[in-house]
Amino acid sequence: MTHFENKIYKTLINNAFLFLSETLLRLLDRDPEGSGKMNTNLLTLTCAELQISLELAIRATLVHSRGIKCIVKSDQANLPENEIEELYANNALKVTEFDKQKNFLKSQNISRLTKEEFKEIDRFQVYRNKIVHFSCEFTDEQLVELRDEVLYYIVHVVLVLLADTSTGETPAEYLQSKLGLKFYKQVMAYHPYVKAMEKFAAKNANPVWTCIGCFHRTYSPKDDYCYICGYETLAGYRRVDCGACGTKDSVIYDDWNIHNPGNHHFMHGKCLNCEEDTEVFECPVCGEAHDLSKNFEREYCNPDHCVNQ
Ligand SMILES: [Zn+2]
Ligand SMILES: [Zn+2]
Ligand SMILES: [Zn+2]
Repeated sequence: MTHFENKIYKTLINNAFLFLSETLLRLLDRDPEGSGKMNTNLLTLTCAELQISLELAIRATLVHSRGIKCIVKSDQANLPENEIEELYANNALKVTEFDKQKNFLKSQNISRLTKEEFKEIDRFQVYRNKIVHFSCEFTDEQLVELRDEVLYYIVHVVLVLLADTSTGETPAEYLQSKLGLKFYKQVMAYHPYVKAMEKFAAKNANPVWTCIGCFHRTYSPKDDYCYICGYETLAGYRRVDCGACGTKDSVIYDDWNIHNPGNHHFMHGKCLNCEEDTEVFECPVCGEAHDLSKNFEREYCNPDHCVNQ
């Protein structure tokens, strides 16, 4: 990017996040429990601002990877950069329509958005038109459904695009670093956000287990990462196979304190897949550890006998 392009890009990214955060914080303010105190006005504002945020985010992504000329109308696109800069300074720069930019982004394969997400973008535009331009009447249930769709859209489309283009962080990390921990904690407690993130995690990771940091179904054991709180396994924890659901390495326990006096080499364990509470034994002789509910399957080490000695 040239110096001028970088300036444009930064402004676009900054404003895209401004509209997104306004949307999110207003929703939290009016409907903090996520219990559905929605009304048509709130939804109208939300949809209109989100569309602006998306348009700016797409433009920023294009300027970042393909340069300013790809968003400028054809009669100005071939001018030298200093003339484009001059047009910009005089508010006379003409940019192409949103649909054209969106289709160009899709054809260039430079974002993580999939075909399905581009379809979401089209679907959202139809919604927005219905809500903003035609002020359709919605029932309370429809409003809540639409709010959830909006949250899903924020997480799966707008945040992915913004995070990818600007910092390369995951959507949750990006949101937390931009909002600050205090606001992000409110977002984490907002039920529609949690639902949207659970869907996002299920789409991106397989399997998804319950996180012991935030207790939502958003922990990916393959990546050792929680899509909501960013939890990763702390040092001193170890996992063994679950006797209840048969999942490999899903029962977590405190390996650091299991041999403390009084514990007798036993520790409470919890399966992150089926959420069953259990007990784990870790052999002080050979280090073998297992979920006690597997004891009937074969002979394991016990406090009196190590089967590996
Ligand atoms: Zn978590
Ligand atoms: Zn289990
Ligand atoms: Zn043993």
